[in-house]
Amino acid sequence: MSNDTPYKIYLPESALPTSWHNLRAKMKALPDPMLHPGTMQPCTKEDLLPVFCEELVDQELNTTDEYIKIPEGIQDFYKMYRPSPLVRAKWLERELDTPAEIYYKFEGNNTSGSHKLNSAAAQVYYAKEQGLTSLTTETGAGQWGTALAMACAYYRVALSVYMVKISSEQKPFRKMVMETYGASVVPSPSDTTEAGRKILAEHPTTGGSLGCAISEALETAMKTDNCRYVLGSVLNHVLLHQSVIGLETKAALEMYGIEPDIIIGCAGGGSNFGGLISPFMAEKIAGKKDYEFIAAEPASCPSFTRGRYAYDFGDTGRTTPLIKMYTLGCGFIPSPNHAGGLRYHGMSPILSKLYCDGYLKARSYIQSDVFDAAALFAKCEGTLPAPESAHAIKCALDEAVKCRETGEKKVILFGLTGTGFFDLSAYDSYNKGLLTDYAPSDADLEKSFAELIALR
Ligand SMILES: *Cc1c(COP(=O)(O)O)cnc(C)c1O
Repeated sequence: MSNDTPYKIYLPESALPTSWHNLRAKMKALPDPMLHPGTMQPCTKEDLLPVFCEELVDQELNTTDEYIKIPEGIQDFYKMYRPSPLVRAKWLERELDTPAEIYYKFEGNNTSGSHKLNSAAAQVYYAKEQGLTSLTTETGAGQWGTALAMACAYYRVALSVYMVKISSEQKPFRKMVMETYGASVVPSPSDTTEAGRKILAEHPTTGGSLGCAISEALETAMKTDNCRYVLGSVLNHVLLHQSVIGLETKAALEMYGIEPDIIIGCAGGGSNFGGLISPFMAEKIAGKKDYEFIAAEPASCPSFTRGRYAYDFGDTGRTTPLIKMYTLGCGFIPSPNHAGGLRYHGMSPILSKLYCDGYLKARSYIQSDVFDAAALFAKCEGTLPAPESAHAIKCALDEAVKCRETGEKKVILFGLTGTGFFDLSAYDSYNKGLLTDYAPSDADLEKSFAELIALR
């Protein structure tokens, strides 16, 4: 397209998607099913019902319906902050002196600051419909907890968030936002659960971990009447809800006849990237279009680029069903000096299958390059990106620079998943030159893969 496309493309509210896109209905080969760790048989609906809401379990297991209707009660919530803008990064293009066109879909324009609200709204809505009165979850950096607190306030469902203790101390502002929305934020490990008390007895001064917070949230969900546990990434139903990103993007591009050549997203558990690419990937699988898809991940937690495709637990505490995915091993602990998010050891089973079958590529980046890209983007485009999102920015920059060298006029699209306002301590470290780069050694990874093999 040309210079007359606007800088920001907003869909009219009337064009908001009314269904989500379920990519599994179009995949030539499906991801392997989740397995029950006791029986090693595929998980049934009954296995999952004690932990998750019924409608979400149905969505999790639905591999046949390409479109799933978004209930009006969720559409209404989406209207508070959607459609999100699709922005042409013209100042960045000028700075890079590239013939490429760069577009980004910005999901950081809501108070929670990220795309996670798209799934939080859906999950809380279904919990309310089912008559549940409370939900539990864990949060590390705090984006998921904040999104869920917003949705729980709106639908009037009680929420307890087990927040990794060290994060609740380092990121007190996140905690304050969640509490303002009415959530109870419990620093984990806590004395409110058996799992927490056990860890506290053994390690009284520990700062906690995501694995421990998950165990506490799961225990509370199982022991409390009318309560369930909710999760903000990785699972199929979360990618389904995030397809609203891809559907809006596709509609906005079509309004101006723009066709992307390359589609990029950052990947932690894969939910934003899976949602962004969903309708585009369906066209690629059908042989209608030949988009290039690239997942961008941190070199310090490289699930796609250095992981194994194997059955593994979703959590460090080894309590979840077994999931076939690219994984570094559920015992893998990312380096504590990694400030850029995306620390999950595994990856969405849908994206894992697509990667294994050659439909998408992945690249990994060291954090100093990621923060350089974030700072350049902020200076050119005005928006301070979340460090997670900056992995996608780095990948888009590299592709745009390649176009400068080859003279190709490619159209590059990436997902800008969130704002960096809650990550100022990471930016502070970057500005002071204190960020260090780290990648696990092969020996580190082999050690954690050894435990995977024991699973088989
Ligand atoms: C949680 C988060 C991510 C990573 O999660 P995915 O499930 O991989 O999308 C990326 N960006 C932001 C801003 C996040 O909050």
